[in-house]
Amino acid sequence: MIDWYSQSVEELAETLQRLGEPSYRSKQLFRWLHQRGAQSFDGMSDLGKALRQRLEELAPLTPVQVEQRQTAEDGTVKFLMRLADGRYVESVLMRYSFGYSLCISSQVGCRMGCRFCASTLAGLERNLTAGEMAQQIYAAERDQAVTVSHVVVMGCGEPFDNYDQLLRFLDLVHHPLGKGMSLRHITVSTCGLTERIRQFADTGLPVTLAISLHAPNDTIRRQIMRVAQAVSMEELKRACQYYVAKTNKRITFEYILIRGLNDEARHARELAAYLQGLLAHVNLIPVNPVAECGFQRPTAKALQQFQETLEACHVPVTLRREMGRKIDAACGQLRAKAMKKGAPPAKPLPEPKRSLTEGKRRIHGRRDD
Ligand code: SAH
Repeated sequence: MIDWYSQSVEELAETLQRLGEPSYRSKQLFRWLHQRGAQSFDGMSDLGKALRQRLEELAPLTPVQVEQRQTAEDGTVKFLMRLADGRYVESVLMRYSFGYSLCISSQVGCRMGCRFCASTLAGLERNLTAGEMAQQIYAAERDQAVTVSHVVVMGCGEPFDNYDQLLRFLDLVHHPLGKGMSLRHITVSTCGLTERIRQFADTGLPVTLAISLHAPNDTIRRQIMRVAQAVSMEELKRACQYYVAKTNKRITFEYILIRGLNDEARHARELAAYLQGLLAHVNLIPVNPVAECGFQRPTAKALQQFQETLEACHVPVTLRREMGRKIDAACGQLRAKAMKKGAPPAKPLPEPKRSLTEGKRRIHGRRDD
C-alpha cells in the first residue's frame, strides 16, 4: 500500500507514470500533500476527478489528526496526535520570539529505556514513517492556524533508532515544493547512538545535533540511561568530535538535573572537563517528574550553582525555558495517561523482542560484528 505522505517527488512521479500521467502531476500532488495540507484526494482540484479516484483506489490518504490538546498559560500547546492505525504520539508547539517551534515524535514509544522518561515506559511499538513525522507539523499548523518555522525532533522516540525515515523526513520538509523549511531550523536529539552520529556527520546536513548526556561520568550515566551500558562517554565524545570536525557545528548537550544524583558543583566541574575541546553548548533542564520514575527536581540554589560553575569553567550554558510543565509536557506523559485511561492502540503490534545490546549490534554493526 502506498504511503503517499512519505514519498519523494521522484517516487510520486514513478507512481503517476505507471498510471500514464505526466510527471508534472507529481509536483502538484506533492504540493497538495506537503504545502497545502490536503487530507484527502477530493479537494485536489487541479488533478481531475478521474485521477483523484484512481489515486484513492490505489491507497487512501492517512492523515494524522489532533486528538487532544492542552494549552499552558505561556501559550505552549501540547498535542496528542492520532495516527491512522489508532496509535498516539505527542507533539508540543512553543512560541518564541523567532517564531513557532514544534517538538515532534519519531517513534511510537521508545526502546532506549532512559529511567526518567515516560516515553519508554511501555517500550517501542513502532517507528513513525517520514510522512507521519512531517504531518505532525501540518496538523499542529492547521489546529492553531500558525506557521511552524522550527522543528525539534525531541518528542517520543529515538530519532537515530529510526534513521532512514528521519533522513526522508528531513528531505520532505526541506523540499521547496513542500514547507521549504531551512535545515538550520531543525534540531535532532539523540541519547547517543555513536555509529549514527558519525553517519549523520557524513551527510553534511546543516541540522543541529543535540545529545542527551545527563551525566558527568559513566557511573551516573549508567544509572539513568540504558544506552550508557553499551556506549561509554569517551566513545560518545569521540563520535561528537568527529561530528564537529566534519560539520564545524556546535553540539547542544542536554543535561537533566536530578536532585541528589547529578546536580552538585563537582558534577558541573566534571562535566566542564568532559566537554573541553568540544564545540559545545549545555542546555540545563530540571527533571520533569514522572510519577513512575521517582526523580526529583533540584533546588533553585543547586540549579543556580550548577549553572554558575559551568559558566566559571567557560562552558556556554542556558537554562531550558520551562514551558508547559503543568500540561505534562515532559516526553510521553500525555500519551502515557491517554493509554492508561483506556485509549489503547487500535491494532497492537507485538513488542520487538530485540534487546538493547542486540540493537546496539545492529546500530554499531561494523565494530561489533
Ligand atoms: N531520544 C532522544 C529524543 C527524545 S527525548 C533523546 O534522548 O535525546 C528528548 C529530551 O527530553 C531528551 O533530552 C530527554 O532526555 C528529555 N527528557 C525525557 N524525559 C524527561 C523528563 N522527565 N524531564 C526532563 N527531560 C526529559
